[in-house]
Amino acid sequence: MNQKYDVVILGAGASGLFCAFHLAKRGKKVLVLEHNKFAGKKILVSGGGKCNFTNQDVSINNYVSKNPRFCHSALANFASSDFLDMIHEYDIPYEQRELGKYFCKNSSKDIQKMLLSECKKYKANLVFSIQFMGVESRDNQYYVECLHNNQFIQIQSEHFIVASGGLSFETLGSTNIGYKIAEQFGLKMIPTKPGLVSLEFSQQEKEVFKGLQGIALKTQLSTKDAIFHEAMLFTHTGISGPCTLQISSHWTPGQTIQMNFALGFDFQAFIQEEQDLNPKKSLENTLAKEFPKKLVHALLSTDNSLPSSIDKMTPQHCDTLANLFCNYQLIPRTTSGYNKAEITCGGVNTKSINPKTMEVKSQKNLYFIGEVLDVSGWLGGYNFQWAWASAYACSQSI
Ligand SMILES: Cc1cc2nc3c(=O)[nH]c(=O)nc-3n(C[C@H](O)[C@H](O)[C@H](O)COP(=O)(O)OP(=O)(O)OC[C@H]3O[C@@H](n4cnc5c(N)ncnc54)[C@H](O)[C@@H]3O)c2cc1C
Repeated sequence: MNQKYDVVILGAGASGLFCAFHLAKRGKKVLVLEHNKFAGKKILVSGGGKCNFTNQDVSINNYVSKNPRFCHSALANFASSDFLDMIHEYDIPYEQRELGKYFCKNSSKDIQKMLLSECKKYKANLVFSIQFMGVESRDNQYYVECLHNNQFIQIQSEHFIVASGGLSFETLGSTNIGYKIAEQFGLKMIPTKPGLVSLEFSQQEKEVFKGLQGIALKTQLSTKDAIFHEAMLFTHTGISGPCTLQISSHWTPGQTIQMNFALGFDFQAFIQEEQDLNPKKSLENTLAKEFPKKLVHALLSTDNSLPSSIDKMTPQHCDTLANLFCNYQLIPRTTSGYNKAEITCGGVNTKSINPKTMEVKSQKNLYFIGEVLDVSGWLGGYNFQWAWASAYACSQSI
């Protein structure tokens, strides 16, 4: 291994690899340090093995950050169509699914292979199974200390890029090293929390929704500042599915989530119609025509003011019923934690970062890209798009 480079990148994940070959393409001597045995572990498991690599419609509205406009410039300069151009160049089979999501048709491996081919083509150096020990800045140079094959190495570089990701899925190589480096250089942090993650019921809600595991239905979940209407899944211990993952990134512990299982459903009209057709039928069986029976049972069990047969239903009862189905107030106990979360929300405070270059404003030639920053994408390919776009912005500025 050579000891002097133009750029050293910490982390050979999505953003690190993408940045590495773009820099190498521009003639920079690049070294990527990765402690895993190979590159892009998260890419391989992403999208259920099919990598949801970007989305047709990407804007700052698809991201959660304390500094919402920060990601605008990078996203505008590297669009999802730019990534699709690469996919076409490599002839990777892909498909568009619901809500503009692009997935590989065959395997996520196609994306990992494409990034590695580009690194090879432009001679970006990658080193694996390396233990990063620390970095120092002296005389406009970075000195990176590592252990490799039981040998201590010091690498000198003019630029240092932190692309070490967030905390989710420790088994895939995630560490808090990016945050530690940020703190070392005096940067502020936005507190982290698991994002795009399932939510756990309190004991009380576990009782209410007992036996519903496996039931999926389109639901609207909302907090005071976000609203999603997608498929939601009941699990043994709480709720999951796309809608839950989306709202989880906007949820803070203690906050109420409003659940609407019957968006746009007219209970008055439905009950009136059913009263004409089957007046002696039970309320529960009547509602089970439209909603999963176990959900109906669970929701009705939380209210004892409703009559059991529909002929006794009054307009006021219909309002109570609508409120039960459309305005269930859930306070999750917690999330399922970093090891089940697709992303980490929070991270390096972007107020300290130049949005056009990803360079630290107060520290020349130090950069942060990808998920380590306080930029969290929605479910749907937005996190990879941020990894590509932030890496591209950084690569073009060096
Ligand atoms: C199960 C799962 C599925 C996902 N599916 C999707 C999807 O389909 N679409 C989407 O857009 N997003 C998806 N994501 C999120 C996406 O994978 C990440 O947002 C993205 O990989 C972030 O890129 P990054 O380069 O910032 O970090 P990463 O890709 O996590 O790369 C960071 C790299 O740094 C390395 N590293 C960390 N610490 C050290 C250290 N101390 N020394 C050396 N190396 C280190 C890590 O090993 C890793 O290789 C998924 C995430 C998970 C966990």
